[in-house]
Amino acid sequence: MADCLFCKIIAGEIPSTKVYEDEYCYAFKDIAPQMPVHIIVVPKKHLANVLECTEEDIEIAGRIQLAIANIAREQGFAENGFRVINNCGRDAMQTVHHIHYHILAGGMMGEKIV
Ligand code: AMP
Ligand code: ZN
Repeated sequence: MADCLFCKIIAGEIPSTKVYEDEYCYAFKDIAPQMPVHIIVVPKKHLANVLECTEEDIEIAGRIQLAIANIAREQGFAENGFRVINNCGRDAMQTVHHIHYHILAGGMMGEKIV
């Protein structure tokens, strides 16, 4: 999508610190980390958020899960654990409208998610 920040990152038009890439997914370090490890995982296909996913996107959804697991192992935080967050829409304060999953790791998090 022409005016999408994360599409531009995937295309290499805007720089990012790449952490992982496969045929379906791209992952990079968040520019404003909220934990010692803060990685954004996106599908290469532009979808605004989970509400835009259809049956056609089932493989992408599965690939994202596998990418997250691969990243956790490769980056060395699989054993200690991590949190995955997806913001969808206004109340969740989604700011970039290309579906993405925040991986947070590298320290103890609160019992509550928010
Ligand atoms: P959300 O609020 O869920 O839409 O999250 C968007 C995330 O994208 C935020 O955590 C931002 O810090 C992050 N972000 C915005 N611009 C960039 C960028 N150029 N490179 C890496 N992360 C970014
Ligand atoms: Zn996009």
